[in-house]
Amino acid sequence: MQNSAQTARTFSWDAIATVLLDMDGTLLDKHFDDYFWEVYIPEHYSLLHNITVEEAAMELLERYRSMENSLLWSDVEHWSRELGLDIPELKLRIDHLIAVHPHVTDFLDFCRTQGKRLHLVTNAHPRTLAIKLDKAGIGGWFDRLICADEVGFAKEQPQFWAKLQEMLCFDPARSLLADDTEKVLRTAERYGIGWLVHVARPSSRRPAVRSALYPSIDSFRELIDLAAAACGRTDRTTHAHGKETRL
Ligand SMILES: [Mg+2]
Repeated sequence: MQNSAQTARTFSWDAIATVLLDMDGTLLDKHFDDYFWEVYIPEHYSLLHNITVEEAAMELLERYRSMENSLLWSDVEHWSRELGLDIPELKLRIDHLIAVHPHVTDFLDFCRTQGKRLHLVTNAHPRTLAIKLDKAGIGGWFDRLICADEVGFAKEQPQFWAKLQEMLCFDPARSLLADDTEKVLRTAERYGIGWLVHVARPSSRRPAVRSALYPSIDSFRELIDLAAAACGRTDRTTHAHGKETRL
């Protein structure tokens, strides 16, 4: 795990009661989403409007960007109406690309064994969540599966976290959030979430990009190793890969 100057402190797994995990890019390979929105939808949109795939991709990128950081960005019903395409049906057609990242189920097992409250917290629309979990089969590990749609705000919005705390009754200071989106981590940090982990390799097809602000992991194996080492530690310092590691 990479250190972060701003958040460097000794990792205390025992101090964490609740683990909040993002879905797309964090637990699941973001390659599905990248391919779907950047390749598959432009192909269908170009056929529908008799324009080139490149023209379709450029037009769609503009439209996607205009909805960033809002609930509409992940609202498949909104996009079905906007684009004249059946988005859930198209997602199902390529659901063979939905994949769980390596070491994720080991980490989920580890959290359960350690008695942590475990919640999936996603901006994904409920219909997308159903498609993803049907294929990925990881829903059973969680105490609750929370869609931003249910909360009424996107995770990038400060109101999301206050509402989530009301819904789940967790102690922010004793909670860990893992997410591949820095902006989400920043909003959660401002709200008071005590432990923040950045997932540096959301897509298996793209290189890792580390955060300058938060500790980054390439896979959940690093977090399992760090947490296992932190359990019962007396000197409260972990040595991994030959050097001191702090979260
Ligand atoms: Mg994500």
